[in-house]
Amino acid sequence: MKKVGIVVGTRPNFIKITQFRREFEKYPGQYEYKLIHTGQHYDKNMSDIFFEQFGLKNPDVFLNIKDLSPAAQIGEIIIQLSAFLAEWKPDLLIVPGDVNSTMAASIAANKTGTRLAHLESGLRSFDREMPEELNRLVTDVLADEFFVTEQSGVDNIEKEPSCGGNVHFVGNTMIDAIVGFDADIEKSEILEKLNIKPQGYVLMTMHRPSNVDTKEKLHKLIEVVNFITQNYHLVFPIHPRTRKSLERFGLLDQLTNNDRVLFSPPLDYMSFQKLIKYSKFILTDSGGIQEEATFRQVPCLTLRENTERPITITSGSNTLVPFDVDIISGYIDSITNGSYKQGEVPPLWDGKATERIVKILNTIL
Ligand code: UDP
Repeated sequence: MKKVGIVVGTRPNFIKITQFRREFEKYPGQYEYKLIHTGQHYDKNMSDIFFEQFGLKNPDVFLNIKDLSPAAQIGEIIIQLSAFLAEWKPDLLIVPGDVNSTMAASIAANKTGTRLAHLESGLRSFDREMPEELNRLVTDVLADEFFVTEQSGVDNIEKEPSCGGNVHFVGNTMIDAIVGFDADIEKSEILEKLNIKPQGYVLMTMHRPSNVDTKEKLHKLIEVVNFITQNYHLVFPIHPRTRKSLERFGLLDQLTNNDRVLFSPPLDYMSFQKLIKYSKFILTDSGGIQEEATFRQVPCLTLRENTERPITITSGSNTLVPFDVDIISGYIDSITNGSYKQGEVPPLWDGKATERIVKILNTIL
């Protein structure tokens, strides 16, 4: 039996690993698979609901790091996970994405001599101010197997002399979740619940420190929201970080008083995916949502200066926009009058990336 561990810690991580159990089960008796949850995201809305909806196995290991500072969380993950890896001795540890848990788990793997696979390898925003970029760099320096979602990832790894390992262009496991759960997504009644119609609303998420941590940026956000709600309902599932920041600066009321803003706590996967699928357009600063919008061919305006997922722009329906209402309004006009680009689904974003990965594991482990 080959022992494979997967480390998850945050909402996007859970979404990236949904199909592994099913794929491992296609090879009875060949894999002992353990799920390790660091506890970086731990509450009902950001964690439990995803385990329930995806039918993920309960974590075999839960590192209870929730109330610690980010640096202490990283330290605790390294200490606790290293102890577990030293005892269990897996043949491979898989880490998805670019969050602190990803980087910390990679260091634990390195310090215990555990072979490491990075899922979503090679993505680069080339913006070292972005905490995730440093997590990606560290993880890729330590990884032995690189599972890559788009061609830019292959190119980046090949250009970086400090990354040595095997590059596998397999597609996008985040899209595997959409394809695998599409029937359940369709069954969601979120549009009825919010009393909105397909294409009659805009979906927004915002949580990057660079967009929500200062009063100045939050004022700009409110300006953009007021502009959009002149013509559309705006569905805004609010990330805990953004809510806290709006409260800290006394600005939450300015959004809650706008009756065309449909506020909610972070939404479950099926509801959120249904909202993506039927929205007129999306305004976001998320990494993953740029990809999900691209897959659905829904226009996506991303409030960031750069993206580590360039295929969503060169092939997909995504555009980077500055925090400037005049520029954003130009794009919204083009979406409203139908002249905005339609975009194509990138190569290998077909719902079979996890299947390809497990086939590769069959040969390399
Ligand atoms: N998501 C969700 N409910 C929400 C907001 C986002 O299920 O209310 C999903 C979204 O579809 C995507 C993932 O969470 O799959 C993205 O997470 P996030 O934007 O927090 O992280 P990032 O991708 O920026 O790392």
